[in-house]
Amino acid sequence: MTRVTLDAPLSGIIGGKSAKPLEKAFGVTTAEELLWHLPRRYSRRGELTPLTGLPVGEQVTVVAQVLDVQVRRMQRRPGQIVEARITDGVGTLTLTFFNQGFRAKELRAGRQGIFAGKVSEYRGAFQLQHPDYEFFDSDDEVPGGAQLEEAAAKAWAETPVPIYPATAQMPSWTIARSVEMVLDALAEVPDPLPRDIVRAEGLLPLGAAFEGAHRPRNDQDWRAAQNSLKFREAFDLQLALLHRRRQQAAEPSTPRPPGALLERFDASLPFELTGDQLAVGSVISDELALPHPMHRLLQGEVGSGKTLVALRAMLQVAESGGQSALLAPTEVLASQHFRSVIEALGPDLAATLNPVLITGRMPVAERRRALLSLASGAARIAVGTHALMSEGVTFYDLGLSVIDEQHRFGVDQREALRQKGAQPHVLAMTATPIPRTVALTAFGDLETLTIRELPPGRLGIETFVVPELEMPRRAARVWERAAEDVRAGRQVYVVCPAISGGDTPSLEEGEDAPEDDTAQAASAGSAAAKRPLANVADTVAEIRAMPQFAGLRVEALSGNMPGPEKERIMGAFASGDIHVLVATTVIEVGVNVPNASIMIVRDADRFGVSQLHQLRGRVGRGAHPGLCLLLSVAEQGTTARERIEAVAATSDGFVLAEIDLELRREGDILGTAQSGGRSTLRLLRVTHDGELIAHSRELAGALLDEDPQLAHHPGLAAIIAREEAHLENLAKS
Ligand code: ADP
Ligand code: MG
Repeated sequence: MTRVTLDAPLSGIIGGKSAKPLEKAFGVTTAEELLWHLPRRYSRRGELTPLTGLPVGEQVTVVAQVLDVQVRRMQRRPGQIVEARITDGVGTLTLTFFNQGFRAKELRAGRQGIFAGKVSEYRGAFQLQHPDYEFFDSDDEVPGGAQLEEAAAKAWAETPVPIYPATAQMPSWTIARSVEMVLDALAEVPDPLPRDIVRAEGLLPLGAAFEGAHRPRNDQDWRAAQNSLKFREAFDLQLALLHRRRQQAAEPSTPRPPGALLERFDASLPFELTGDQLAVGSVISDELALPHPMHRLLQGEVGSGKTLVALRAMLQVAESGGQSALLAPTEVLASQHFRSVIEALGPDLAATLNPVLITGRMPVAERRRALLSLASGAARIAVGTHALMSEGVTFYDLGLSVIDEQHRFGVDQREALRQKGAQPHVLAMTATPIPRTVALTAFGDLETLTIRELPPGRLGIETFVVPELEMPRRAARVWERAAEDVRAGRQVYVVCPAISGGDTPSLEEGEDAPEDDTAQAASAGSAAAKRPLANVADTVAEIRAMPQFAGLRVEALSGNMPGPEKERIMGAFASGDIHVLVATTVIEVGVNVPNASIMIVRDADRFGVSQLHQLRGRVGRGAHPGLCLLLSVAEQGTTARERIEAVAATSDGFVLAEIDLELRREGDILGTAQSGGRSTLRLLRVTHDGELIAHSRELAGALLDEDPQLAHHPGLAAIIAREEAHLENLAKS
């Protein structure tokens, strides 16, 4: 048999009939891609999977033993049912088959194997209907019997059984069989890593690592394999990200040195820049003046003055006639940015720079005018939503792309905006503090700048958890307090997780799935969770009916409203005409109404830690201290409650980001938007592997210093090509 290499197409090794469904299920097309489809866990033949607590409605794979089997006639229809019970020694699970009498002969009591199917509940008992299964023994050779030596029997029982991420069409053992065929067909695998790194890190050679991960003889085998593969995963990713960054940094770009426009602006500022704003500003200023594109991620608390930093960069770019685009995730934010840019510039500079707003929903004539002044270069600042990236938008000379709330956009979108100019500088901004390991993994191609200092004179925000079940009187007092503040001239936000009754938690424009499943899982168990989620529509009605709010204006705002309607409501709240704004997380980012003093969050445990931190950043932005009240029915001691207590206990977004990281699941952190599509890291966990990520980045950096084009490391050059293709493919899908 001819030996194959890692890049060999799967169809040539296992046949098209087996390869197709693998591609369909997991997107794997080559030997290497299949070998990177690693077991989720390892079971043992002797060790059965606990059958209690199986998730109803989900596809499961369990190792169990047949307890008994019976065949009976169906009651209302002709035909028969085979019912077999399997057990882990404690609990049982029923397997049911309709009109498949032969199953009764296969499913003999005592046989052990792997069973896979979707868990359903029938009359209070768990079952798998028409599951797939495979027995460990072949039919005529029962191990542990006289045929086997004792030692061999022991080895057999101890051999780990890899359990693969599987689908209904593609059970674990089918994957295992294909993997085995690939391993058997594989020629010696060349190791792409330099030998000194393999040695220094104590890694298994790549081929041995694949073998150990898929065909371990014992637990040490797969553990060592996992460690080696995890290192390789971290290293490959960092190498690709660093390489991409260095490539980009080497591209030529128009230098944009600072000049009179920026000076004029600084002179007109009614306040001093903070130390961090100055420091960050000077790094940006220096890089804009270089003949290579800047790629920076600016992170800083809500209200730390990032937008101002960005505006100063835009002024610097405008000096030489260059244009800047400011991209915001929602219409509300884009128009707000537009207003505040004009206001901050003042009439003279605004007339010079002629900022335009571009959104998807603006009137055609207005849009045409804006597009024309962008194409002619008359407008030097464009503020907008995704519409900015659409085909009809042409810049005369795009020098800088600013992306606000970067985590709402994918790498591909950042890229789309970059394509509108000749290597424009890029400044991405986020108010969601990102732990370093996440930043390195998700934004490894951007260098981070951080603002930690808030502008002086901020009165701060106090946050309290109000447990509605334990302290109903305090919960009632929340509304009294809100009404008092309104009577004293302030304004109030109320945020709810749902838009109207019967809704699942609302998903706003451009938003990912709810940030945190642990929250929902944690509260789902409690009796209180049976109560429907607080929603915007009912909350508006409730507040309007409260005597203390008589004569006050209470309005709703949610992402599903038409754009102009949202604008109108937001405008009315900003101008003080609306006293209480009841909203979904549509107000989460960037909204600035300095007169708002109280933020009330209903069912606060339904929001992520970082999200709550963002929300409370909406108050305490003016002359009055902010108050954030987190209403919740989550019981003491639950994770849900712990999370909101954590938010109340600290105002440091970076501390919260770390807590969030610990409490959140990986998938939520590296959502497709953040990771540019690589939503599934294989073995690497940003929550636990921070050191490994940082270490491998250092090694990758050193290697690129020595050999920037990887001329002496063809294997690694191939890996980079693979990783980049992967990023691009996923970004497109
Ligand atoms: P961010 O975008 O980081 O949330 P902004 O740039 O919107 O913050 O700033 C929030 C508010 O603080 C704005 O009203 C802005 O004018 C004001 N601000 C920014 N920098 C300073 C400063 N150095 N001193 C006082 N106020 C500032
Ligand atoms: Mg902002």
